[in-house]
Amino acid sequence: MSAGRFAPSPSADLHIGNLRTAVLAWLFARSTGRRFLMRVDDLDDRTFTDVANRQLDDLTAIGLTWDEPAEWQTQHSARYDGAIDVLFDRGLLYECYCSRKDIAQAPRAPHAPQGAYPGTCRDLTDAERSERRGRLGRPPALRLRTETLSHTVHDLLHGDYTGIVDDFVVRRGDGVAAYNLAVVVDDAAQGIDQVVRGDDLLPSSPRQAYLAALLGYPEPTYAHVALVLNSDGARLAKRDGAITLAEIGVERAIAQIADSLGYQASTVEDMLPQFDPSKLPRQPWIYRP
Ligand code: GLU
Repeated sequence: MSAGRFAPSPSADLHIGNLRTAVLAWLFARSTGRRFLMRVDDLDDRTFTDVANRQLDDLTAIGLTWDEPAEWQTQHSARYDGAIDVLFDRGLLYECYCSRKDIAQAPRAPHAPQGAYPGTCRDLTDAERSERRGRLGRPPALRLRTETLSHTVHDLLHGDYTGIVDDFVVRRGDGVAAYNLAVVVDDAAQGIDQVVRGDDLLPSSPRQAYLAALLGYPEPTYAHVALVLNSDGARLAKRDGAITLAEIGVERAIAQIADSLGYQASTVEDMLPQFDPSKLPRQPWIYRP
C-alpha cells in the first residue's frame, strides 16, 4: 500500500520551516489517499533521543497523525547491511581510503562535476588497496561504483531535475550506513512511494533514485518544497527569534503555516480540502516572527 512520510533528523528541535514541510508531507499523503509514516533519521545523531522525542511530540501537537509507530534508523542496521551485501556481491562497491582533505586536493578530470568524488580509489590494484588499508588504521568507507555522471528524476514541483550521480559513500568509515543508502533502503522497506521534503535535498534525489533502481526498488514520486528563510535570505536560526513550537505556540504556528500557504485554517485538517499542489508557493517563505 502506498505511503508518504516525514523523516526528521534529530539534530535540533524542529523549527517553523521543518513543521511546515511536515504539514506539506502530510497533506500530500492524505490528499492522495496514502498512509503517512514517520521515521527518525538518527544515524548521524544517535544520542539525541530527547530531541527526537520532542520532535515527535511537536508533530503530534500540531495535529499530524501517522499510521504506524515511528521507525528509528538506528534500529535497522541489518536492513542496511543486507542492501550493502547485495551491492557488494554484484561488484558494485569499492573501498575508499580518502580523507576529506584528500578529496578536496585530488586532481579533477576536466568534465568532473563540482562536488563529485574524483574517483581516487575506484581503480586501485589489490596491492595498492592492501597498502592503503594498512596505512589507514581504521575501516575504509564503501563507495558505489556508478556507471553514469548524472540521473534525472521527476519532481512534482520542479519538473524534470537532472543532478550529479558520483561514486557516493554507502557505508561510512565508522561502519554506519550513509544517509543516501539508509533513506533509499528505508523508503522501500516501508512501502513509501511519495517523498516530500525540503528542496535543499533536491540535489540528493538523483543519487538516491539511481541507487533505488540498482536495488530494483520503484522510484518514488518526489516533491521538494520550498524552504523557509529569514529576512536576510538565510536559513532560520535561533537568533531569528521565535522559531520552535515551544516559542511560537501551537495555535500561532498553525496560523502562520496556513497563512504562508494562502489557506484559511486553524487545524491541519482544515487545510486538507484547500490543498492543491499545483498552487503551492515556489518561492521560499520569508519568516518574520
Ligand atoms: N532526515 C533528513 C533531514 O532531516 C531528511 C531525509 C529525507 O527526507 O529524505 O534532512
